Amino acid sequence: MSELKVVVAGAGGRMGAANIRAVAALSGLSLHGAVANAAGMKLHAAVDRPGTTAIGQDAGLFAGIAALGVVITDDMDAALVGADAIIDFTAPGASVALAKKAAALGLVHIIGTTGCSEADDAAIAQAGKDGARVVKSGNFSMGVVVLASLVKKAAAILADYDIEILEMHHNKKVDAPSGTALLLGQAAAAGRDIALREHSVRVRDGHTGPREAGTIGFATLRGGTVVGDHSVIMAGPSERIELNHRAEDRGIFANGAARAALWASGQKPGLYSMNDVLGL
Ligand code: NAD
Repeated sequence: MSELKVVVAGAGGRMGAANIRAVAALSGLSLHGAVANAAGMKLHAAVDRPGTTAIGQDAGLFAGIAALGVVITDDMDAALVGADAIIDFTAPGASVALAKKAAALGLVHIIGTTGCSEADDAAIAQAGKDGARVVKSGNFSMGVVVLASLVKKAAAILADYDIEILEMHHNKKVDAPSGTALLLGQAAAAGRDIALREHSVRVRDGHTGPREAGTIGFATLRGGTVVGDHSVIMAGPSERIELNHRAEDRGIFANGAARAALWASGQKPGLYSMNDVLGL
């Protein structure tokens, strides 16, 4: 087995730097266990948009580690030549375009980008049918995968409790509710066997009237440098359960994305989730 050759897309971003560090940490390793479909991974290329300050910098130095001899480029097509996998935390339009390239080249495509529309998600699913091995998740941390399964179970048991999902992120985040909040909402909806899109309340303002039974509410906070806080509150008569996750370092997402890339390298083309990666 050879090392998985990974392209980090969005290399100049907050997650890009974390992904460069995670890939570098798995370089030169011989891995064992369920995700050992490759002998570790190495950074093949690092890409961002034309005009961003990261372009032209060594990816390792940019990410705060030793030089890796890989210069961050804005030439995506050149970066993909000879690559096995893309770890992509960018923006919805960029991820859809990359999914089409991943399909044409038969690559692993790990998508952490959030804020995708239904049309974006349909295009990404199509890429899975057309040859890409896609793992897409609103959150790649182990903690949130476990939290989602707890939420699904609790939502099913506490079938008449009101469910509210509260999230807080840093002041640079551009989409709301967060991908993780939506992932947790999907888990709650799955526990109740209902469709989230028909039962979610994403905004409340003014004279809203009483809460409609059976809905799943979302509330969004933005400020400072918060990496990601999520609370799922289940409120019933005279009691309340709160299930919380606090992300303290972006490394938790980057490590999960790297693990997903190693796993996907041994799978058939298709669209997968972190539950598939972890065999849940
Ligand atoms: P960021 O703005 O710091 O970084 C995004 C980077 O992508 C930027 O450097 C930008 O220039 C680059 N980019 C945009 N379009 C591009 C293109 N066409 N080609 C190449 N590069 C392009 O944002 P961030 O905090 O790193 O988050 C990135 C995304 O990842 C967001 O959608 C965020 O919500 C999501 N995210 C997901 C998880 C998860 O576990 N799924 C965790 C954290 C963040």
